[in-house]
Amino acid sequence: MQCGSADTTKLSLIWQSGNAVIHAKTTGVDIGSGIGFGTAFTTGSAQSLSSLRASPPEKMQVIRPVLVYFFINLIVYVAVSSIFSLPSWLDLILNWVWLPPSAWHLYKSIRYNRFQYPRLLRQWSQCFHCNRCGTIFLPTQNQGVNS
Ligand SMILES: [Zn+2]
Repeated sequence: MQCGSADTTKLSLIWQSGNAVIHAKTTGVDIGSGIGFGTAFTTGSAQSLSSLRASPPEKMQVIRPVLVYFFINLIVYVAVSSIFSLPSWLDLILNWVWLPPSAWHLYKSIRYNRFQYPRLLRQWSQCFHCNRCGTIFLPTQNQGVNS
């Protein structure tokens, strides 16, 4: 748990400043001066490492996995049916194998994005980072760290 240090920063602020430094790094590369490049690059990668840990939760992909299931199924189906002459029942099954996992994925991802994701994002936006020991914590769980 948190070490009790008052030296804390809101997680979302670390993440934003991390992105700002990454942006500065890109500009430095574009300018292309030798020393400037080196310095900008070091700061940039160091900052982006700590902002990586502070990154917000992400939404689940909804459509893309379904497309992947569909096209893998299509390729397998075309390959198999061009080699073997399939009985019609097997042909039907091989045509629709992609559907149950796709339906399951749609159900799970839509549920996650609608209910779980907003809760995680709200929790993330309330989190603090201890600059001394690196712990990420919610102030409500630790009395007296509200500065
Ligand atoms: Zn600490």
